[in-house]
Amino acid sequence: MFSSELLPVNIAGEWRLGGGDAYESLYPATAEPIARLNAVSLADVDEAITRAHHAFLTSGWAQKLPHERAAVLHRVAQLIREQGETLAQKQRLDNGKPINETRALVASAAGTFQFFAAALETLEETITPSRGPFVTMSVHEPMGVVAAITPWNSPIASEAQKLAPALAAGNAVVLKPAEVTPLMALELARICEEAGVPKGIVSVLPGKGSVIGDAITKHPLVKRVSFTGGTTTGKHIAHIAADKMMPVSLELGGKSATMVLEDADLDHAVSGVLYGIFSSSGESCIAGSRLFVARSIYDEFLTRLAEGANALRVGDPASEQTQMGPLITAKHREGIERYVALGVSEGAHIRTGGVRPHGDGRDKGYFYTPTILEGLTNSARTAQEEIFGPVLVAMPFDSEEALIEQANDSIYALAAGVWSRDFKRAWRIGRAVQAGTVWVNTYKQFSVSTPFGGWRDSGLGREKGREGIFQYMEQKSMYWGTNDEPLPWAGVTHRAWSN
Ligand code: NDP
Repeated sequence: MFSSELLPVNIAGEWRLGGGDAYESLYPATAEPIARLNAVSLADVDEAITRAHHAFLTSGWAQKLPHERAAVLHRVAQLIREQGETLAQKQRLDNGKPINETRALVASAAGTFQFFAAALETLEETITPSRGPFVTMSVHEPMGVVAAITPWNSPIASEAQKLAPALAAGNAVVLKPAEVTPLMALELARICEEAGVPKGIVSVLPGKGSVIGDAITKHPLVKRVSFTGGTTTGKHIAHIAADKMMPVSLELGGKSATMVLEDADLDHAVSGVLYGIFSSSGESCIAGSRLFVARSIYDEFLTRLAEGANALRVGDPASEQTQMGPLITAKHREGIERYVALGVSEGAHIRTGGVRPHGDGRDKGYFYTPTILEGLTNSARTAQEEIFGPVLVAMPFDSEEALIEQANDSIYALAAGVWSRDFKRAWRIGRAVQAGTVWVNTYKQFSVSTPFGGWRDSGLGREKGREGIFQYMEQKSMYWGTNDEPLPWAGVTHRAWSN
């Protein structure tokens, strides 16, 4: 699979080598290189955005009728599906997720393009109640060049989630993937080109976020940034956006509470909690990383949970049987190990995990075992800070009031889960918990038709949903005069002119 030839990047439709330093993308399961490419340079960034702006003005993409742009997006969805297995294997190599998961991500990317094609074709503008002799309308216009900046944890899905609505809205899009996972963004640009998106409307600019992402965000021709990543980076982008008076959407970190009440169906809750924290090796913004269990069932639940965690198959991402692949980089695994050590220094007892697994070809990759920490309170740093790995902090709770108070005691408010057979209680808790998404008796399930985003330090704005297209458009009000007489203020009458 590895070719030592440098991969071209996409500068406003032109495939060529980036002007920055060469680097290798590594397969996290073996630490072997899978691709080499040059990052883009600052000059490439300026050229790509300037040419994207030109393409926005001249290519006719923005002027296409909704059903015409939708047809192109449908074709993108179709091409993703046709090339699904190749894309899933490439995504596995790029970020080390198990093949079953990358297949699901590819399917989700195709579904996202299909959804936004349908949404675009059926989206309606509104005629608003008029307060005079005029018809009032609210309409939306494309913005121009918009930027999408994505993290490494689910590349093709998070890139499609930004690219599809931004293209549907008629914009040109500059996509900056995470430096360590550049391949899926390049594949999406190739597929868009094949589907008939005009040259220059999509660019892919790999490189370091602090340099390339920063330059993209600050560029005067970039009219909006849609960002998914860490909260610190998100706040930095928000400051730049404030200076430019530029709208942004920020999908940021989380430390989501999963709550298991004493009347929960324990089979469902054990499976759901394991999936919520350990799928994707916990490298998921919505990972259910803080677990609250009713004290009366805490011991039984933790015993079953630890058995389930021990039984998870951690290993080769190419195997259909694997449930947890490696972490993204050696550095990220070290960060997770530091958090587990911090937890222990804060008084945690490691119920299970807390080590690197050995054997079965796992020693070269960045694997880590599913880990459960007990004995901490919700105020511990390990219970408050996002670890972004397979580490669960489990705590008992004594009352509904204490549960809600602790669940909401976090700077984050991205997601939450409630497990209970009592629908009235689940409803009450679900409404009282502050979070962008609440799952009741399920977890980490998604529909592209349902808006997604966070409160507080988990972000600003919403992605997905039919209205997701409007995030990438400017709103305009139009007044159409219907009066028979001139406006009265100047005293000019229809009769006076006709005399
Ligand atoms: P980062 O914020 O470090 O990186 C995210 C993206 O931003 C990358 O493309 C990165 O580039 C780029 N970037 C970094 N610095 C800047 C900058 N100064 N200006 C512009 N762009 C920049 O996050 P991580 O890579 O650590 O990703 C994990 C984080 O993402 C977690 O906190 C997680 O919770 C969050 N996340 C949120 C999701 C949500 O929907 N709410 C979904 C998935 C993840 P590069 O990597 O090349 O440096």
